Amino acid sequence: MAENRQQSAGTGTITKLNPLAEKLQLRLDEDQLTNCMRCGFCLPACPTFRETGIEAESPRGRIALMKAVADGLMDPDAAFEEQMNHCLGCRACEPACPADVKYGQLIEQARDAIEDHTTSHRWWVKGLRKTMFRGVFPKQERMQLLGRAMSLYQRSGLQRLARGSGLMKLLPSHLAEMEAILPPASGQGVIERIGDRHRAKGERIGTVGLFRGCIMDVMFTDTNVKTVELLTEAGFDVVIPKAQQCCGALHAHSGEPEEARSLARGNIEAFKQAGVDYIATNAGGCGAILVEYDHLLHEDYKWEADAKWFASRVMDISDLLVRYGRIPRFLESAADGDKQVRITYQDSCHLRNVMRSADAPRTLMRQIEGVAYVELPEADRCCGSAGIYNITQPEMAASLLEGKMAQVETTGATHVLTSNPGCLLQMKLGEHRCGGSRQVEHLVDFLHERLVKQL
Ligand code: SF4
Ligand code: SF4
Repeated sequence: MAENRQQSAGTGTITKLNPLAEKLQLRLDEDQLTNCMRCGFCLPACPTFRETGIEAESPRGRIALMKAVADGLMDPDAAFEEQMNHCLGCRACEPACPADVKYGQLIEQARDAIEDHTTSHRWWVKGLRKTMFRGVFPKQERMQLLGRAMSLYQRSGLQRLARGSGLMKLLPSHLAEMEAILPPASGQGVIERIGDRHRAKGERIGTVGLFRGCIMDVMFTDTNVKTVELLTEAGFDVVIPKAQQCCGALHAHSGEPEEARSLARGNIEAFKQAGVDYIATNAGGCGAILVEYDHLLHEDYKWEADAKWFASRVMDISDLLVRYGRIPRFLESAADGDKQVRITYQDSCHLRNVMRSADAPRTLMRQIEGVAYVELPEADRCCGSAGIYNITQPEMAASLLEGKMAQVETTGATHVLTSNPGCLLQMKLGEHRCGGSRQVEHLVDFLHERLVKQL
């Protein structure tokens, strides 16, 4: 008998409330739960179901579990939490669903409730989350401080010393591997590097506000700089609002919606003041929450209209170039030499399934003269990165990555491109694990290297 029922049927006996069940009942959207008609169309799209074949590891199974808890038919026990945590949040189930069930919203509501009550996270997962989510990601000056510390670690010889001394062996093996593939960090963000205002080349089409991202701006600063240059070449003035903050995606996906809402308000204010026509991102993970700020703040009447204004302007850089810009000419690079460059592309799940942008990156890649594009089989299937999933669920993430690398192998590609920093690092990890020599790059970096600039 579920502990969360307040009154036992027929007896009138009051039973003890399970606090997590109570919170789940309040948080889960009843309409979305009942919209699921159990058709199972989403099952083949779900990576965790395909890996395990277990119904409870599928979107339909997870929704049934949530509904059983919300209806008071079962207690949200450790197995329930585990199934919620095993979900990648990739949202591949949403485009496959004929009933338009907003699964992403349901899993966020479930995680929000679980986060306050769980005892199952390992101590270092809790500690890492709290420190990074509340103390570092929301404060860009702290991110830059972290970038400077990492840069010092990487360049001073400390990294070599740590690796040589066997210190890395103290870390769980997947974390030690990740340390090995981190790109050079920077203590300077894009604004410190090139300033916050940039003029369009040729006739001006409009003004774009660049969303620089928190991790993007210290670990992939070059990519942000190159994003600005691609946008100005395509005819946009670019402004980078200084007051912008972290997008809040990791917070929203990990059960910290209040923190996510607070970050959203700060970003909306920053971009409204900048008076932009479009808001460009180069990270699918950030873009997906930015286009959903209207949903995130739909119960906040003061911010509702501004959140809609913001969400309607957000676009990935590839969409912005293809739909509204003047696409520059891209030509194979002298650095490519005589060898035939073959590129393949791993979709960012959030770019594809939430921002619904799968065609624009491919349109751009197919336009690079002298470079062959080859489609990656099952490019729409998650690589296992999924925010911090590859840190908190290393076994499933490793299994997904292994399958992904086997697919990459069939393409004969010399370069693997992605549009999200998490996917980029995960694919680099895949190359590292299989001892491959393919280059893994952000689409923006690859395009910029082959950009034929206007005079
Ligand atoms: S979000 Fe991804 S992993 Fe989670 S249920 Fe949907 S398809 Fe499966
Ligand atoms: S496709 Fe949609 S309606 Fe069908 S089982 Fe999956 S979530 Fe439910």
